[in-house]
Amino acid sequence: FKLPAIDNEPLRSYAPGSPERNGLEDAIAQMKRELPFQVPCVVNGKHVKTGNLAKQPIPANHALHLCEYHQADPATISAAIDGALSGKAAWEALPWNDRAAIFLKAADLISGKYRYQLLAATILGQGKNAWQAEIDAAAEMADFFRFGVKFVEELYAQQPPKNAPNVWNRLEYRALEGFVLAVSPFNFTAIGGNLSGAPALVGNVVIWKPSPMSVYANYLTHKLLLEAGLPPNVIQFVPGPAPEIVKQAIDHREFGALHFTGSTAVFKSLWKDISQNLDKYRGYPRIVGETGGKNFHLIHSSADVSNAVLQSVRAAFEYQGQKCSALSRLYVSSSVWKGGFKEQLVASTSKIHVGPPEEFQNFVGPVIGEAGFRKVTGYIEKAKQTGGEILFGGSSDDIVGYFIQPTIILTKDPRSITMVEEVFGPVLTVFVYEDEDYEQTLDLIDTTTPYALTGSIFASDRSALLHATNRLRNAAGNVYYNDKCTGAVVGQQPFGGGRASGTNDKAGSISIFNRFVSPRSIKETF
Ligand code: GLU
Repeated sequence: FKLPAIDNEPLRSYAPGSPERNGLEDAIAQMKRELPFQVPCVVNGKHVKTGNLAKQPIPANHALHLCEYHQADPATISAAIDGALSGKAAWEALPWNDRAAIFLKAADLISGKYRYQLLAATILGQGKNAWQAEIDAAAEMADFFRFGVKFVEELYAQQPPKNAPNVWNRLEYRALEGFVLAVSPFNFTAIGGNLSGAPALVGNVVIWKPSPMSVYANYLTHKLLLEAGLPPNVIQFVPGPAPEIVKQAIDHREFGALHFTGSTAVFKSLWKDISQNLDKYRGYPRIVGETGGKNFHLIHSSADVSNAVLQSVRAAFEYQGQKCSALSRLYVSSSVWKGGFKEQLVASTSKIHVGPPEEFQNFVGPVIGEAGFRKVTGYIEKAKQTGGEILFGGSSDDIVGYFIQPTIILTKDPRSITMVEEVFGPVLTVFVYEDEDYEQTLDLIDTTTPYALTGSIFASDRSALLHATNRLRNAAGNVYYNDKCTGAVVGQQPFGGGRASGTNDKAGSISIFNRFVSPRSIKETF
């Protein structure tokens, strides 16, 4: 069989008056009329209502809730694990083309029938503007599934290059023993789809615990996967309290792998818990995680100022800085800074509209929740108290929604708190370096934070790009030249970082699939 042609899902522009704009506005209006939705756990395809309800608030108007969801209790998690394990043999035995077809169909449901619903859920529930929701819940999620099929096809085709006479050597890519636990974050609807979908594509069964702050968009994703024909016990949807669900799964003898995106602290503690349980398991669980960043733009003295400003504003403030890849520390050459960068940076930021994400003129929406709001505003206060100068923003409005103005902090201390710690909000800290201190600045970029996810270098001098790339060899898993450090595209820029940012298994590439198979080498002599 030959696969259908695979390409990135085209982005829609949602221009005023266009059918797409009208379609999306109608979906948002309808969702607002119908909320709060009731979301069950989905175990073996059956809706399980535990009665232990929690709510997903709308961050732009936290008096409202997008959904009320039934939190998984221990009996539900047990049933989910047993159900997954009982479905494993049949799922793995299904011919690869049939597994592939389910995910290709799911991608079409994402880009077609479910598109506006997924976008509306991501806009209202996670506070993304329409274009940010489009690149996430429509494009990236469809891309994860379509390119996933292509990558797995390539993986299965990787066979030993040599056979001796009368011998046929082959590799069989088995799924892992046991089940995979997928723990997904709120900030990308697509990541939930990928954390659960990628292991399933290669024949694994999955217990999926979504973030409490994105339950509804994740539930829709699970629903469309079932509609696409995924056997009901392959991915079990169990929202609820993280520590309990995750602990019960990790304590299980059949725990086979963790596929995680979230904070470094949680990932480390799960890794430690898993290590404590090693004697319980059949084998060594695979641990795959993407865990945050403290990403940089380096503006060299030869940089094109307008482009560097534009890309920096986008990278710092799109989706309120709540991407693991978001720009949060900006190192600017003093000659560039004085040559117009400062004024342009402040002017561009001051033009940003802040407000409810479903109103299309707003670029910056609310941060996700109260805890995030307190954390981000706390960082702004600490920066002020420790000598940071607020060049723009710094204020917030917590009456109706969790809105924080895009904020630029100028610091003279390259190790000040917001240059070092992950803020996960619309806060950009700028350090202006003297041009003669360039080499020390490269050292600072490399050593001031434990993270190494993304980074961009802006220079028109090509030797400067190469020099910085070499000096910053391990400071980022995704490097961009003269472009923003966010927005990796599946099939184009495999995504992930090292150090405290994760295991760098590169979402959106063949590498990730290698982590969820256990190859068997077969030698047959004729
Ligand atoms: N892949 C996304 C990007 O390149 C970020 C994903 C994340 O926040 O984890 O912007």
